[in-house]
Amino acid sequence: MTEQTIPVWNPATATRIGEVHAYSHSEVDDAIARAVDAQRVWAALPIGRRQQFLYDLADSIDVHRDELATLESQDVGKPLRAALAEAESVASVFRYYAGTIDKLTGETIPVDGGVAMTFREPVGVVGVITPWNFPLPIASWSIAPALAAGNAVISKPASLTPLSARRLGELAAELTPVPDLLQVVTGGGSTVGGALIDDPRVGKISFTGSTEVGRSILASSAATMKRVTLELGGKSANIVFADADVDKAAFAAPWAVFDNTGQDCCARSRILVQRSVVDRFLEGFIDATRALRIGDPAQLTTDLGPLVSAEHRQSVQTFLDADLDVVYAGEAPEGPGFWMAPHIAVDPAAATRAARDEIFGPVAVVIPFDTEEEAVRLANDTIYGLSGSIWTNDVGRALRVARGVESGTLSINSNSSIRVQVPFGGFKQSGVGRELGMEGVRSFTEHKSIFISTAS
Ligand code: NAP
Ligand code: MG
Repeated sequence: MTEQTIPVWNPATATRIGEVHAYSHSEVDDAIARAVDAQRVWAALPIGRRQQFLYDLADSIDVHRDELATLESQDVGKPLRAALAEAESVASVFRYYAGTIDKLTGETIPVDGGVAMTFREPVGVVGVITPWNFPLPIASWSIAPALAAGNAVISKPASLTPLSARRLGELAAELTPVPDLLQVVTGGGSTVGGALIDDPRVGKISFTGSTEVGRSILASSAATMKRVTLELGGKSANIVFADADVDKAAFAAPWAVFDNTGQDCCARSRILVQRSVVDRFLEGFIDATRALRIGDPAQLTTDLGPLVSAEHRQSVQTFLDADLDVVYAGEAPEGPGFWMAPHIAVDPAAATRAARDEIFGPVAVVIPFDTEEEAVRLANDTIYGLSGSIWTNDVGRALRVARGVESGTLSINSNSSIRVQVPFGGFKQSGVGRELGMEGVRSFTEHKSIFISTAS
């Protein structure tokens, strides 16, 4: 039988840059069997040895930073500057979780007749299914804590962008004290992903991707009562009050929605601006957007690359319909590659598709509001609740609005979403569970209670 492969493309040039093996269902079965054995050995190793592996892997990621970043940049079309920073962040995720291994403490609980105590046990084998927008960082947010909690991991990267995860698997294999502790299995979502989800030997699935696939995983995990963490879509609001430093908010806004060419689950693609400052905000926002450099991802000065595929570009372009009042359209490179320039629209009705659905591309909608109450209502008028920003100089208002917005991660006078120390995840249909921080490592454990009788 000839080997089944998946072609890999560079979206900036529309050229084929390689291929990866497409694992079959029975190959995934075998990988799960090896992971079951590896997990038992791994969990029994001394704490220091387990920590050392994660620190060693972090060091190896630093040593291979340029190689990993170049792979990611070519595979995703991501600017190399961003890919370098992401590779560095992945090393720090492994370091952070190495440090949690001896901090997964339980409790002692006052009870009658003895002592009750709790432990955090590993769930066993964890399947990690990830998307194509931040392939290596998102994979690391599950792989590192899952290993730290004593699990074995099978990682399935997105078929559009499998190269960096495959390389991470090779680097881990060079250093691991236990063969097959971290296996990377490339292949289709329904075949490889499906095999992991349906198998009772896999204790947990950590999935990041679309709300649609997340919903189907939640439904099919019921058959084996599998634990799931789901990190899904978003339609986050960037709320700018008239009492804010409006110029600062406007200058920062392009990065909050157009970074990674808008292919970011945390993209603040609905910009709610208090009516009295809409014109001033738009002027600064358009100026700052015009300054973004779109082009060859390999140049360190490039800010934005192409979209990930021709199909995805087609889907993003459907949002530029006649209903949309586009006030700014930038320029993107001509020729090969799946380029699309940033677009800014103003939508007083807040009713168009672009104002409601996740676009996952470089299209921002500016929506005016009058009162604080209206801003919170508009921000919450969505099935999603992943992130968001609030710009105001009134500290009381900042906290009132932050508590009022139904979203997992909010920033005040900033657009930053992700810090390894801080739990990240969504309200409503943006997901189930949290990644990162101590919450992230606990989510890869089962809580166990033990009672010891002290009766004489
Ligand atoms: P996707 O189509 O849901 O795919 C994500 C992953 O799931 C890929 O590895 C895919 O494999 C796999 N998959 C597809 N169908 C499957 C199935 N039936 N069973 C099991 N696995 C399956 O999402 P995407 O297009 O890659 O990513 C974009 C979405 O991810 C956006 O909605 C975005 O908001 C979301 N996202 C969320 C976060 C967050 O943290 N909340 C972060 C990044 C992205 P194949 O590639 O082989 O199809
Ligand atoms: Mg690619």
